[in-house]
Amino acid sequence: MPEEAHRLPTDTDDGMLLIISGPSGVGKTTITRGVERSIADSVFSVSATTRAKTPADVEGVDYHFVSDEEFERMKAAGEFLEHAGVYGKKYGTPKAWVIEQLKRGRLVILEIDVQGAIQVKKQMPEAFGIFVLPPSEDELLNRLRSRKREDEQLIQKRYANAKREIDAAKDSGVYNLFLTNEDAAAAIGEAASAVIRERARRGA
Ligand code: 5GP
Repeated sequence: MPEEAHRLPTDTDDGMLLIISGPSGVGKTTITRGVERSIADSVFSVSATTRAKTPADVEGVDYHFVSDEEFERMKAAGEFLEHAGVYGKKYGTPKAWVIEQLKRGRLVILEIDVQGAIQVKKQMPEAFGIFVLPPSEDELLNRLRSRKREDEQLIQKRYANAKREIDAAKDSGVYNLFLTNEDAAAAIGEAASAVIRERARRGA
C-alpha cells in the first residue's frame, strides 16, 4: 500500500502539530509548558501512562495514569496516535483528542520520545519537531541528579539512554530544530518564535 494511504486526514486541516522531545533532565517540560503559555491557541496533549505518579504529577494535567490492563485495552481499541515503551513503562498519545484539536485549528503540543515522534511523523508528515539538547553531557548529569526523583542507578540509566536518544534524534529526520537549553526563558522564546514563523510560512 502506498505511504499516502496511512496518512490521517488532519494533514490538510488548519491546526499544527508540534512535537517536543529531548532526553530526560534536559528541561523539556519547562520548555513545553512555556511554549504553551506563549502561544494563545496552543493545547498540551495529556498522554496515558502506566508509570507511577510522583508527587509532582497532577492527574489529567501531566498524564492520565492508567493500569497496564487499561493501557492495553486503549491500545487494542486503536485509541493511540502513537505509543511507546520508555524505561519499562508504557506511554501513549490520545488520537481522537489530538485530531479534534487540530480540526479546531489549534497548535497541539506533544511531549513524546523519539520512537513516538517517528510514528507520528509517518502519519502526519507536516508535524513540526523540536528536539531539546543539554548544554553539555556533564550538565545533563547534574540536572538528572538535582531532580532528586530517582536513585543513582536509574539516573545512570537515564544518562546513558539520553546519549543514545540524542543520536537517534539526529538520525531520525523528524526534527526541524535542535534547541540547546542553556537558559530556559531564552529556549522558550526560541521555540515559540520558530513555531510562529512556521505557522506564518504555512499561512495558518
Ligand atoms: P516521564 O516519565 O519522565 O514524564 O517521561 C519519560 C519519557 O516519556 C519522556 O521522554 C517523555 O517525553 C516520554 N513520553 C511522555 N508521554 C509520551 C507519549 O505519549 N508517547 C511517547 N512516545 N513518549 C512519551
